[in-house]
Amino acid sequence: TLVSKALLAALTSAGEDRPDALTVAGRPCSREELLGAAGAVAARIAGAPVVAVRAEATLETVVAVVGGLLAGVPVVPLPPDSGPAERDHILRDSGATLLLTGVGGAGGDVGPGEGAGGQGGGRGGPGVTVMPVDAAERADWAKPEPDEAATALILYTSGTTGAPKGALISRRAVAAGLDGLADAWAWTPDDTLAHGLPLFHVHGLVLGVLGALRVGSRLVHTGRPRPEAYAAAGGTLYFGVPTVWHRVAGDPAAARALRGARLLVSGSAPLPTPVFRGLAELTGHQVVERYGMTETLITVATRADGERRPGHVGVPLPGVRTRIVAEPGAEIGELEVTGPTLFDGYLNRPEATAASYTADGWFRTGDIAAIEPDGTHRIVGRASTDMIKSGGYRIGAGEVENALLDHPAVREAAVVGAPHEDLGQEIVAYVVADGVGEAELIDFVAGHLSAHKRPRKVRFLEALPRNAMGKPQKRLLPPA
Ligand code: ATP
Ligand code: MG
Repeated sequence: TLVSKALLAALTSAGEDRPDALTVAGRPCSREELLGAAGAVAARIAGAPVVAVRAEATLETVVAVVGGLLAGVPVVPLPPDSGPAERDHILRDSGATLLLTGVGGAGGDVGPGEGAGGQGGGRGGPGVTVMPVDAAERADWAKPEPDEAATALILYTSGTTGAPKGALISRRAVAAGLDGLADAWAWTPDDTLAHGLPLFHVHGLVLGVLGALRVGSRLVHTGRPRPEAYAAAGGTLYFGVPTVWHRVAGDPAAARALRGARLLVSGSAPLPTPVFRGLAELTGHQVVERYGMTETLITVATRADGERRPGHVGVPLPGVRTRIVAEPGAEIGELEVTGPTLFDGYLNRPEATAASYTADGWFRTGDIAAIEPDGTHRIVGRASTDMIKSGGYRIGAGEVENALLDHPAVREAAVVGAPHEDLGQEIVAYVVADGVGEAELIDFVAGHLSAHKRPRKVRFLEALPRNAMGKPQKRLLPPA
């Protein structure tokens, strides 16, 4: 098993620093400055039960989160563009008493029944500023860390399959998860991690910010994940969700600028095969995929020295074990995982927590997968939306989606099973495409896959419904 140092050990121990150790949305900052500003935040929030951070893609967000970690106060990142309902849900559900926002933003106490946005309190929020401090002041915070079993973060799931659930993530889980990734990707202080992902989920915040801070590599957060910004970031390591990689692949000049990188990484949703291929051609890199969830952090990843195949997400990280629970004779089934990165349950949802674990303590991912003889994992889709049962066959939506995406006119595809009297479910494809009709696409898929996998209906949309991470939201598709 993996023996991890305390979560902030690397960040708070003196090491090499530079004025631009991290740059977020164009603003550079040294580790020294980060720790000074975060220390000031920590001093103001110490003793609070939970703090919410309005997680804009800014330096202040990083300062506020690190401040919470320094103080040992669980941090709940709040999507900055969340509507009032989602915001109130997260604030109430999490029990946050303070809301941290950036300079000029309104911060304040969060009272029950109050929205965010500073009407509350009157004490004034700990508006976060970044300022230089001397080493003596910083040393104040290089004190023993809180118990590693304590909650570091309360992260809300993406809400793809229902209302977002608050996952309690311990400091130990974060540390173990990040060390596992550092191992898999040979991620070192010599790297520069570049990305522009939102800072309120595992991907952008935990891997993409805390990962860089823990490893000691430089971080360039581009503010938004635009291809030009990726091209200009000068990273050795790039993180993106499939939508971002799709855009980069569609911008050859930007894609070519990534030729000098060491590793391009994709996750949060399946990377379509055509995007994998397009990027390989333009950047010279086969994108590395990894798989995880809010509840488990990253559990499976393609290693830097591992074989890269589209649709494959690699092997378990150190200390992680995986298994497939399949019906007799079936090769695919639900993926279950266990290991040091698992969460401590859903906040305020004992039943959902209990249901998510097996009797022997493994976590049920709700994802359908296969493990190849060589140990690599292939994610087929979600049990709830991506397994279609049609005419006695079980069909993974992803396979049909990839076949559709191989048609040059198809830009996006989402495939679902719709209720059907005779077949149980019929395959319905939603596509974003130009200059191609239903019959042609059905024939195209039939030419690529077995007959029972071809869609019965094709619906044309302007865009697929997606969330901030670019995950397709199948439950928001119009009726077939
Ligand atoms: P909710 O749990 O609220 O319905 P969600 O499952 O989308 O939302 P997250 O925890 O952000 O919330 O996402 C985890 C899910 O993302 C996984 O269960 C899996 O379905 C999907 N996922 C992550 N990485 C990959 C990947 N590389 N390939 C395919 N799917 C992935
Ligand atoms: Mg989920």
